[in-house]
Amino acid sequence: MRTVPGRTENVVVVGAGLSGLSAALHLAGRGRRVTVVERGSHPGGRVGRADVSGYRIDTGPTVLTMPDILDETFAAVGESTADRLDLMPVDPAYRASFADGSSLDVYSDINAMAAEIERFAGRAEADGYLRLREWLTRLYQLEFEGFIGSNFDSPLSLLTPQLAKLAAIGGFRRWEPMVRRFITDERLLRVFTFQALYVGVPPKRALAAYAVIAYMDTVSGVYFPRGGMRALPDALAAAASDAGVEFRYDAKVSDIERSGSRVTAVRTDTGERFPADAVILTTELPDTYRLLGRTPRRPARLQPAPSAVVAHIGCRASASADAASHHTILFGNEWDRTFDEIIDQGRPMVDPSLLVTRPTAGDPTLAPDGRDLLYVLAPAPNTDVGGKDWDSDRADYTAQMLDTVTARLPHLGADPEILHVVTPSDWARQGMIAGTPFALSHTFGQTGPFRPANTIRGIDNAVLAGSSTVPGVGIPTAIVSGRLAADRITGVVTPTRARTVTR
Ligand SMILES: Cc1cc2nc3c(=O)[nH]c(=O)nc-3n(C[C@H](O)[C@H](O)[C@H](O)COP(=O)(O)OP(=O)(O)OC[C@H]3O[C@@H](n4cnc5c(N)ncnc54)[C@H](O)[C@@H]3O)c2cc1C
Repeated sequence: MRTVPGRTENVVVVGAGLSGLSAALHLAGRGRRVTVVERGSHPGGRVGRADVSGYRIDTGPTVLTMPDILDETFAAVGESTADRLDLMPVDPAYRASFADGSSLDVYSDINAMAAEIERFAGRAEADGYLRLREWLTRLYQLEFEGFIGSNFDSPLSLLTPQLAKLAAIGGFRRWEPMVRRFITDERLLRVFTFQALYVGVPPKRALAAYAVIAYMDTVSGVYFPRGGMRALPDALAAAASDAGVEFRYDAKVSDIERSGSRVTAVRTDTGERFPADAVILTTELPDTYRLLGRTPRRPARLQPAPSAVVAHIGCRASASADAASHHTILFGNEWDRTFDEIIDQGRPMVDPSLLVTRPTAGDPTLAPDGRDLLYVLAPAPNTDVGGKDWDSDRADYTAQMLDTVTARLPHLGADPEILHVVTPSDWARQGMIAGTPFALSHTFGQTGPFRPANTIRGIDNAVLAGSSTVPGVGIPTAIVSGRLAADRITGVVTPTRARTVTR
């Protein structure tokens, strides 16, 4: 593996999102002096926050998986997750609610899930699920250490026995046809393939290797930190600070100084200068290239992922037992068209499928007394393909989203107040490529060694991290990308503990 040559004592990390925090922790644990420079006033980046009328809103991710990756990150500075975070298991992880009125609770416990599937779709499907679970677990085992968690210098360095094993179990086939080998119920099929939305590619076209995300959410389990998702970056930043990392907030990096092929310092719009032996950039890809004065040499244009509209709604707290679910996926009748509409046709879903999260199910203090907080996410086209004027249509679209929620989940949404809405136009105003917070889609050509690499040709001591580079979008992957960036600077440090595999 290529590493940064020469001195690397003093590292500047640009961005205090999850990837930057992870890089800072790993580097501090390996004895580097680290400064994190962040344009915002707090850590988290896309793990965003808004405090509105007594509600503590998480504006970014809601589904937290793979806590063992957090364990490794805290362990980098000799700490544990439990020292810093109260992580509560979300059980069931999701409720999948279908347009025909049926619903299925997704449990990570093998017996509970097999029993739920038997109730829902019969014994044969439950048996198929058990075989699917084995396949997902095998995918995860092969992919994590072999690919997701490792740096590669070229596509050729991927040619390992691990790759042959991954091919043998169907990792390079397509996601949906592979899952169909195990289960036939169309509704169940959605439960194990909807995660293709995160990848930004329809399940029929997405690489089966990405079904590893279905392992993360349906097998390894979903968690929620007390205090909301913001507690996660706050905890990582606090651990980094205690390990000696310096944080400079409210300072946007505006220039990077170079001498020949080496970066020598980072400058901010506040007029400060931070000398650096090496830098890690977690900025949006076009900003990264601009700061480094580089034009990427790629034969094809980068393909941005689809976007989302997220509406944050306060409503009367529900006393119904049905309201207990933390995450509910409302699948529309026209689920199959959804991907086509938002990815290829560039228009909002005709029959919306929504992710409804109720964080107050895990922590009621996130809303005023007697109120619930809802987070409703509608996948939407990015601004490259979509032509909708979100600023004019924001209120109407939000009203439609709320109508869908109250029609499908009548126990939620009484006495609603719209607290905060974020559309693709808003993501674009925040500087996100094509108005999407999900960076680049994970097409084959933007996967693994074909994704923009975390090293930059011609610059010896700049390393990239974050969702636009390897391994990709999501909380676990952003955190891993920070460790991969640290490895580029220090060389690989043997992990402190073996990875947990849930079966
Ligand atoms: C609405 C939404 C829902 C999501 N849902 C999920 C989910 O449920 N589960 C999941 O696993 N993932 C989810 N994700 C994805 C996940 O949140 C991201 O992939 C991850 O947080 C990205 O982290 P990052 O470090 O790559 O980037 P960022 O969080 O964007 O961090 C980059 C940081 O750099 C700072 N920065 C940028 N430019 C400069 C500059 N010039 N100077 C100084 N600082 C700068 C930014 O302010 C930011 O803090 C979701 C994301 C969003 C937005």
